[in-house]
Amino acid sequence: MEIVFATNNVNKIKEIRHILGDSFKLLSLHDLGIFEDIPENEPTLEGNAMYKARVVNRMLNLNVFADDTGLEIEALNGQPGVHSARFAGENKDSDANIEKALLMMGESENRNARFRTVIALILNGKEYLFEGIVDGRIIKEKRGKAGFGYDPIFIPEGMNLTFAEMSLDEKNKISHRARAFEKLKEFLIDYGHNKDSV
Ligand code: IMP
Repeated sequence: MEIVFATNNVNKIKEIRHILGDSFKLLSLHDLGIFEDIPENEPTLEGNAMYKARVVNRMLNLNVFADDTGLEIEALNGQPGVHSARFAGENKDSDANIEKALLMMGESENRNARFRTVIALILNGKEYLFEGIVDGRIIKEKRGKAGFGYDPIFIPEGMNLTFAEMSLDEKNKISHRARAFEKLKEFLIDYGHNKDSV
């Protein structure tokens, strides 16, 4: 099955190719000659993911999926959420984003947070949503050098290491993104089987 992943993020494409395996021919926007980013102006992760999928579906009339992720901190009423990338400004500076989140949380005893990934899929004209969540907590100072974004301040539930102290393989076993993409994979495999039997 040929399917477009509506992103130009090379690392994401690599990661998702790894998860989806050989049964799917994954095309990036680059592969299709689209080099600009699709805007993310919707108020929810679901809205952004579906908007991106719809733009590409209308442009190319191909099966497509798109994702959006946010860090939702309980003490901040779910912020930064859909604004995670640009929390401290348009230049998407991870250190500044972390600093802002920690400053807003202050000494709050509630350190609960979660990463949430939403995937929007448009397959043969029908729209579907998938969600992957990893619960955890926010520590008061950064730890670790791996990963990206808010990884240095996030410890997933049941662990002692931040995402930034784990190897990529370790993180990918439990991450929000991996969980969402595993759901997408199962759905696509089932869909392929059912289509053959109808
Ligand atoms: P995106 O939707 O995958 O581009 O993610 C939006 C923003 O959420 C990123 O710019 C990061 O700030 C944050 N983010 C997403 N995934 C992760 C992660 O796995 N670790 C840390 N931060 C993340």
